[in-house]
Amino acid sequence: MAMTGFLPRSLKFRLTSFVVVLVLAATSIVTTLALTVAERDMKGVIGSQQINLLSGAAAFIDEQLKNRLNLLAALAESLPEAARRDPEALRQALQTHATVSAEFTNVVAFGRDGELVASLRDSGLSRSLNVSSRPYFLQTLSTKRAVIAPPLRSRLSNLPVVLITQPLLDKKGEVQFVLAGSIDLLHSDFFQQFDLLRPGKTGYLYVMTSDGVIVNHPDKSRLLGHVASRSGTDQATEKALAGFEGWTEAESLEGDGPGIYTFKRLASTNWIAAARYPTSEAFAPMKAMRQQAILLASVCAALAGLLAWLMVLRFLRPLETLRAHLGDIRHGHADLEALHVGAKDEIGELGAALVEDVRERDAALRQLEASEKRARLIADNIPALISYIDKDLRYRFTNEHYQFLLGVDPKSLLGRTVNDVFGGEVDARWRDCMEAALAGQRVHVEREGEELGRYMHLMVDMVPDFAPDGSVPGFYVMANDITERKMAELTQAASQKRLQLITDHLPALVSAIGPDHRFQFGNAAFQRWLGVDPNTLPGRPVVDAIGEAHYAIAKPCLDRAFQGEVTSYEAKAKVGEESRILASTLIPDLRQDGSVAAVYVLTSDMTHVKAVEEQLIELARRDTLTGIANRRMFEETLQQALDRARRRDSPLALAYLDIDHFKSINDTLGHGAGDDVLKEFAMRLTASVRSTDTVARLAGDEFAIVFENVLPPDEATTLAERIVGAIRPAFNLQTGMLPVTCSVGIAVHAGPGENPAGLLARADAALYDAKRNGRNGYVVDERPAGPRPVLNPAANRAASANR
Ligand code: GH3
Ligand code: MG
Repeated sequence: MAMTGFLPRSLKFRLTSFVVVLVLAATSIVTTLALTVAERDMKGVIGSQQINLLSGAAAFIDEQLKNRLNLLAALAESLPEAARRDPEALRQALQTHATVSAEFTNVVAFGRDGELVASLRDSGLSRSLNVSSRPYFLQTLSTKRAVIAPPLRSRLSNLPVVLITQPLLDKKGEVQFVLAGSIDLLHSDFFQQFDLLRPGKTGYLYVMTSDGVIVNHPDKSRLLGHVASRSGTDQATEKALAGFEGWTEAESLEGDGPGIYTFKRLASTNWIAAARYPTSEAFAPMKAMRQQAILLASVCAALAGLLAWLMVLRFLRPLETLRAHLGDIRHGHADLEALHVGAKDEIGELGAALVEDVRERDAALRQLEASEKRARLIADNIPALISYIDKDLRYRFTNEHYQFLLGVDPKSLLGRTVNDVFGGEVDARWRDCMEAALAGQRVHVEREGEELGRYMHLMVDMVPDFAPDGSVPGFYVMANDITERKMAELTQAASQKRLQLITDHLPALVSAIGPDHRFQFGNAAFQRWLGVDPNTLPGRPVVDAIGEAHYAIAKPCLDRAFQGEVTSYEAKAKVGEESRILASTLIPDLRQDGSVAAVYVLTSDMTHVKAVEEQLIELARRDTLTGIANRRMFEETLQQALDRARRRDSPLALAYLDIDHFKSINDTLGHGAGDDVLKEFAMRLTASVRSTDTVARLAGDEFAIVFENVLPPDEATTLAERIVGAIRPAFNLQTGMLPVTCSVGIAVHAGPGENPAGLLARADAALYDAKRNGRNGYVVDERPAGPRPVLNPAANRAASANR
């Protein structure tokens, strides 16, 4: 049993003590209240008794004084007429009333001048006395009525007396003498009787005038003295002098304790009859009763305690059993079922509830352990530093990653501060974050620096741990080492910058377009070429940037590119004020699953290339020496002319020409002269035909002319003659004038059935005929439409010969 000092602190003791204290307190309170009420009532009763007593005593004194007043009046009444005029007669008459001395100590008579004229006890008037200045005397003279005077010391007897006066009036009603009866206050029988009326054993009565002069008091030395002559304030007396009547409780000035003071005014004199009843005596029975009540309460409490002890012992027996079983369970001597103590009361329910509670706690504990194990497993296997830091910045939990990343045993950190583990620099670097987390804020921050001698870039999350009352006892930390990622980002950024630099300086539009046909990226050429800020491109629809017309051309290629095909197209576009030919190549960015993430577009300005290409094509179709069409252009023109002739059903003729003996010109005048001849020859041919006719140099000194809309046979002949005629004038060469001739073979197109080769072959054959005919002439092969007619060389020759 645990002990504190000498008092056992067991439940039994406390319950019993509680009952005892409760009973004691209850009985004490009830007793005290009852006694207080009783005392209050009893004081009232005692006060009433005192008032009754005092009223009786006051009435008695009043009665006595009135009797004496009447007695003196009767005496005055009985005096003879002479006694009212003559002092001697008065003295003698007074002696006849010696019986009044039973009621008065002495009866004397004063003349109008206040001189003593008669005395019952001193008939010889051995002493003289004048009372003319005494108030009672003057009052009797003036009022002509009897007066009960306040007490005074008699000058005759030197005793404290009360005087009662009675005027003796003559026939005229004037006062001739004043009778004065004195009552000795020390020996007055009625004051002695009055004293006997005292309350209790130690109480007493006293009388004072309304001015406080003591008329009667057990302490005779105080007679005639003033009631307030002693030091100290007698509150009860003060109240009485102020007019109070009734009873009150006050402290005595004599130091003999509080008393019940009762005051009553005398009807005859307005004097105050008073009684003091010591409270201790008045309440002595009450005190005895209180002691008995306290004793009774104590006995009751003791009995209640004993009873409570026995009851508590009995009622708490199952609890004792429960406690013993709990001890056994804790030491493994019993199982949980022992807590079913069998009682059908609250303790039985407590046992059952304990069993239930322990089972639930066990289950919860097992769950918590499993949960903690899982959490620990997860935390230990997360590739990040995970910790819990309390408000003193001490580690309370650390995961295994501390070992992996920093090479420190995570258990060695527990209980140590961040400063202890990592040093002041790291502590200062993270201090603001930790303080923010402890202030209840979530922190997400990326910082770089050295941790335990290793440079790292850390991404750190700090999550405050809120207690139910809203305070933050600590915070969780998750720190990821993102050094490699940061490096990769920097490398990628550098690479992107390089790429941007390159693409920005390429003389081409480079862009990336998403599947939604919006730009993802565009290089600086967009600004230079199209006046479009590349920074505004990401997210912008392609159609907005390049216009409806261009987009209409680009869209089909874009769609195909998003199907995974590399496509290209050319389109004319306005670049600034100039019209340009732009060639775009669209390259899909294929993902592994074959889908297209984006399409890269490279657009080059092909205007110049196209011009050069056209120039080259043109050059390839011209004879470089003479500037007229070459064989390639001739063939194209011939085919086109034949197509037109076929469509329009119009006639067409082809002339084949060859300079006669050209070799010998070369040989004799040189190759340059030969070239000059060729150039002059071409020029004359061109000049001699219509602009719609095509003159071409086929090879060496061979030329051809395509004539459209030629009406055979005359017009062909006319043409042949015009050609021969145009060449006939001598050529003006640097070397001098030179006659040049040529031979011409003309074939008229035979109709839809004849192809260019066939027509050319016939013209060549006609030329051959012209050469064979001796040169410097022409042969026309004029074949009618329909089946090829038999060539009539004779006719041609004839024609040639006709020249
Ligand atoms: P024919 O009257 O039968 O036509 O006799 P010919 O001497 O003219 O013979 P042919 O037409 O066969 O000769 C053509 C010559 O033209 C052969 C070649 O040396 C010459 N030749 C070909 N190309 C050029 C050229 O570009 N410049 C010069 N100066 N001569 C050329
Ligand atoms: Mg020739």
